[in-house]
Amino acid sequence: MRRFRNHLQAIPPYASARDEFEGKAQIYLDANENPYVAPWTEEETFRYPDPHHKALREGIAQYLGVPMHEILCGSGSDEIIDWLIRATCEPYEDAVLTVEPSYGVYETYARIHGAKVQKVRLEKDFTLRAEAVLNALSPRTRLIFLCSPNNPTGNVFSPEVIREILEAFEGWVVIDEAYGDFSEDPTFWLRQRGRYDNLILLRTFSKAWGLAGWRVGYAIAPAEVVGLFYRTKLPYNLSTPAQQAALQALSRQETILQILSQIRSERARVSKALSEIPLVKQVFPSEANFLLVRFTHSARQIYEKLLGQGIVTRYRGSLPLCEETIRVTIGTPEENDAFLSALCAISSLIATEPS
Ligand code: PMP
Repeated sequence: MRRFRNHLQAIPPYASARDEFEGKAQIYLDANENPYVAPWTEEETFRYPDPHHKALREGIAQYLGVPMHEILCGSGSDEIIDWLIRATCEPYEDAVLTVEPSYGVYETYARIHGAKVQKVRLEKDFTLRAEAVLNALSPRTRLIFLCSPNNPTGNVFSPEVIREILEAFEGWVVIDEAYGDFSEDPTFWLRQRGRYDNLILLRTFSKAWGLAGWRVGYAIAPAEVVGLFYRTKLPYNLSTPAQQAALQALSRQETILQILSQIRSERARVSKALSEIPLVKQVFPSEANFLLVRFTHSARQIYEKLLGQGIVTRYRGSLPLCEETIRVTIGTPEENDAFLSALCAISSLIATEPS
């Protein structure tokens, strides 16, 4: 099966100034930069960034114990999702398979690129059936996106189910692990990846690492994917400060691990407190840094009332299987307390309202 669009292989890569000269020099007159700003600007920011993200990829490779030629970096994992669809799907011919409810970007960008979207609905308890996915595939399906832990439901998909899909499908299977760091076994697929030549893992610095504003995501993928990415991405897709911020974050691993355990224990506390509020019908188990909560009353109204108190959550009630739900991020203990007490107040108010 063809895994990338044929014409991509034939395009000679665009060579930027920083591609043609990579070493160290005293004077750079190759990239039409403006050194006159040197008195008040850092050299890192008036020079173009490293298009190959070498230092950052080396840092990630070392952190994960994966060779650098199996790591690629994008401006958020969103850029990588966009590129994967563009690189694999012939417009109006090829298809992307997603599950629902899940992260909406897969479908939106598939549609933007003219790819067909095959959607497989999860079971009521948000589990995934391999058979449902395999039955929905067509000979033109190029990519399957599985988000695990899934956004917005918070659950991890069964490894056996994903394994069955990986083995039966010849195209790319992308496991989006944006929330993986919050799960019980964050490195499960990292440890398994050597067994599959069609597996791509998607990660981000936006969640556990706290760098959402810098826009850095990465993928762990077979070398052929990494090679094609670096030949066909936008030349300077990651700014120098973003690359540096992500590399520095890796040196704070210990602190991040402590923060992750704090977030997990806050998640358990908030989940328990929510389940004791009469207005709450169900709190779905989560391995992410958010909870999906189902209410006995209109979730839209509850969302609006929270907003009225300055608390923004995400109304998810319009997604399939998510009737009367909102998704709430685990914040600091103070933010979580404010959310819980606002919800208690709303609950008492609704209880006394004439129905
Ligand atoms: N995947 C999932 C499941 C997400 O929820 C998000 C962000 N909401 C992303 C990918 C994109 O993250 P980023 O572009 O910030 O890396």
